[in-house]
Amino acid sequence: MNGSNFDVVIIGGGLAGLVSSIDLAKRGISVLVIEKKNFPMHKVCGEYLSNEVRPYLKRLGFFPENLGAKEISRFMISSVDGASSTCEMNMGGFSMSRYVLDKELFSLASNMGVVIVTDTVVTKVNFSNENHFELNTSNNSYNTKVVIGAYGKRSNLDKEIRMKFFYKRTNYVGIKCHFRGEHEDDLVSLHNFEGGYCGVSKIENGLLNVSYLTTNNVLNRYKNIKELEHVHLAKNPYLHSLFNNASSSFIKPLVISQINFGIKRTVEKHVLMVGDAAGMIHPLCGNGMAMAIHGAKICSEQVYQFLNQNISRDEMERYYSKNWDIEFKTRLKLGRYIEPLFGNKWASNIALKPLKLLPGILPKLISLSHGKTII
Ligand SMILES: Cc1cc2nc3c(=O)[nH]c(=O)nc-3n(C[C@H](O)[C@H](O)[C@H](O)COP(=O)(O)OP(=O)(O)OC[C@H]3O[C@@H](n4cnc5c(N)ncnc54)[C@H](O)[C@@H]3O)c2cc1C
Repeated sequence: MNGSNFDVVIIGGGLAGLVSSIDLAKRGISVLVIEKKNFPMHKVCGEYLSNEVRPYLKRLGFFPENLGAKEISRFMISSVDGASSTCEMNMGGFSMSRYVLDKELFSLASNMGVVIVTDTVVTKVNFSNENHFELNTSNNSYNTKVVIGAYGKRSNLDKEIRMKFFYKRTNYVGIKCHFRGEHEDDLVSLHNFEGGYCGVSKIENGLLNVSYLTTNNVLNRYKNIKELEHVHLAKNPYLHSLFNNASSSFIKPLVISQINFGIKRTVEKHVLMVGDAAGMIHPLCGNGMAMAIHGAKICSEQVYQFLNQNISRDEMERYYSKNWDIEFKTRLKLGRYIEPLFGNKWASNIALKPLKLLPGILPKLISLSHGKTII
């Protein structure tokens, strides 16, 4: 296969990549997506998706209510010691596994005529003087006018495209598992423990998604994940009850490391970055999935204008970066300020006090982590 037949090549078939591909295909643009893994696949994620992107997803043909998603309208937070506060959410969202979510987007994209090559890693991207790109995978090479980098939080390509970022080591680890157990359907809960926090919500088929962010320092203190959960996380009474009463539906929990919330650029070597490849927000302070989807929309709009020769490449890159910053820069900044508070026993216990005394604060804080509705 030769990529010169495609106007756009997207590296990565996660949320940002698949949504960009569907949006562009709906505008009549030919798209190739190259994805490292095979569908369907599980991903480390809290699996709560804010309603801010729901009307846009519906426009693309995606209906979570038909796929068993749970409607989420309440939020609960607990401190390391188990003090807790619960509130109604202004906007809310829905909860469903990435396994089902990404699989559905994959089907939608395929039905729209997007070509998706799986089990294939993009190893090299080169922008030539002739105003086009050359891409290499392990067994093929492609030419195209536009490349979208939707390869997630960390990839082999960062080594080539942004060396400094690639070599910056981080201590964060993300862990996720599905359980069978009790949890209210309309509630997303966030439980602090020393050195991290854990999100819990119901997803389709009566399953419970449990995902948490911690550090290597915490992980390395325990023999295995089970011990980490039953000894360390279980110091929070809510998590104690969860791990003692629920049974895991995974053979092994998923673990990812080297999660980096550092600043990135939205355009690198003429590649338009979307989703986590453009910037990753602390899951606690914002909805990374909604940002990936919203970013894909902003990117697709500019790519469409460029391919229709309404704007130059330089304008496409500048307008995309500017619009991305307008939407997300403040949220990312807020995330970096709030980040140190979490997983800190003292801070989480102190922070819960005003939240309990002034119940209006919590819904306001949650609103800050959600964006405006997009259509
Ligand atoms: C612990 C944790 C909990 C979270 N909880 C939530 C939550 O509850 N709600 C929320 O909104 N967000 C949450 N997030 C954030 C959310 O998961 C991400 O923001 C979102 O997945 C970003 O989507 P993406 O498309 O950018 O990346 P991804 O979905 O990661 O997709 C990137 C894809 O690129 C592929 N790829 C990488 N390199 C290459 C290559 N060289 N060639 C080909 N393919 C490649 C990968 O295989 C992958 O499929 C959480 C994150 C973590 C770590």
